Amino acid sequence: MLRKFDYEKMPVVEIVNEILLDASKRGASDIHFDPHADFMKVRIRIDGALIDYTEVPNSIKKNLVTRIKIVSGMNITESRLPQDGAIKATLQDVNLDLRVSSIPTSNGEKIVIRILDYSMSVSGLENLGFSESNYKKVLQMLNVPNGIVLVTGATGSGKSTTVYSMLQRLNREETNIITVEDPIEMDIEGINQIQTNSEIGLNFATSLRSILRQDPNVIMIGEIRDTETAKIAVRASITGHLVLSTIHTNNSLNTIERLLDMDVERYLLASALTGIISQKLARRLCPKCKTARPTNEYEKRLFRKVLHKDVSQIYSAEGCEYCGNGYKGRIAIHEVLLINQEIKDALSEGIVKEKMRELVYTSDVTTLLQDGLEKVAEGATTFEEVLKIIELEDDDRIAGSMDLKSSLDFVDLTNKKEAPTERVERVAKEPSKPIVTPQRTASQTVRPPEKRVETSSASSLGSVKRETSIPPTPPAPPKNDLLERMKFNAAADDDIDDIFSEF
Ligand SMILES: [Zn+2]
Repeated sequence: MLRKFDYEKMPVVEIVNEILLDASKRGASDIHFDPHADFMKVRIRIDGALIDYTEVPNSIKKNLVTRIKIVSGMNITESRLPQDGAIKATLQDVNLDLRVSSIPTSNGEKIVIRILDYSMSVSGLENLGFSESNYKKVLQMLNVPNGIVLVTGATGSGKSTTVYSMLQRLNREETNIITVEDPIEMDIEGINQIQTNSEIGLNFATSLRSILRQDPNVIMIGEIRDTETAKIAVRASITGHLVLSTIHTNNSLNTIERLLDMDVERYLLASALTGIISQKLARRLCPKCKTARPTNEYEKRLFRKVLHKDVSQIYSAEGCEYCGNGYKGRIAIHEVLLINQEIKDALSEGIVKEKMRELVYTSDVTTLLQDGLEKVAEGATTFEEVLKIIELEDDDRIAGSMDLKSSLDFVDLTNKKEAPTERVERVAKEPSKPIVTPQRTASQTVRPPEKRVETSSASSLGSVKRETSIPPTPPAPPKNDLLERMKFNAAADDDIDDIFSEF
């Protein structure tokens, strides 16, 4: 429901304050001020999803933008170029720490305010949703006095929260911790934090060189973005420092590859790398309205294949006054890889990717899909949510080295699928969920993706002959489409074969 302000009477200063306060209290991560031709729409992002908040009439649009630019320290006479600013203030006892960005659009300036919220990291590493075994591995990584620990994931996957929580844990009197960040997202007492400043040439690499002369025990690098930073980070870690950093990749295996792509020498990486924590965020089920339901056949089967156990009951999102849509807050899903000697040896010897995958995923690693499904079984989130955020393609590739490949029997399933046209029609007929967009013709829609064919031929079950026996079919469906259909199919127990044939 849109919030209404009395735009005629209420001063702009108060409107801005109220929007900032209210968004912050609701746990929003961002506030968007989108200029339209006739009004300005304000949206807030809660638990990863943008929702409409209010509409500001054109008459005060300009004043509102100006007010935000003033309090965030921007140049109000400049509206044709992008600007960055920040707001640090206390309003009604709420501490606000905001990053503000403006860009010119054809309808005027668009402002986005990021609300930095550290309440999660303040609550400690043990409250980040790590499973017991993953938590132990993380502690093990932090107990090593030198080496690199990397946290990986997409933007907004909570990497910073995890890194700050680790820093808090390491923050002791006898330890010299120095960070180099862009931006500094949280001030931690007792830690030396450096903000990079590219305008004067203070980037990650130059800061790091100086940091090494400051007798550090622990170094945190906001993000490894380039080769130079990656190399210095690795060198710092093998000269007796514990280095924490983040990198933008999906999982452990991709992280190793990314570092090698950055020209980090294999033998150095092998000796430096201590562990990799990959993470994603799933929306957490609202504790007040989540409703237990029996698992359907498809879900049962997936639990059995992925977790090797029978799960007969999970929870679904309902929605109540407290939460709105059935979810409240988020929970992290992890893959934690502790680099063992075998992986180190393989790394320095220059092993091929397939072999490395085998090594990584046949050790005691819980994959993101496994951890996610565990959290579904525990009632922390929903089956749909986990399937939405974890790329099934990725995970079945991962699964290619595990039991899953034979048990899910991808090859047979892709072979025995029904004619694509029929399925599309049947799915499209479902009235409540328009799963296939009307414009898309049947021939464009359903087929097992190319990758499946590769997977099946690579698996022990597959063979060249098998591969060629798959009839030529049109291009793969877009991922969302597939997921929509999976959700639909998950609800209809009798469609199991169809679902599996989609993989
Ligand atoms: Zn609820």
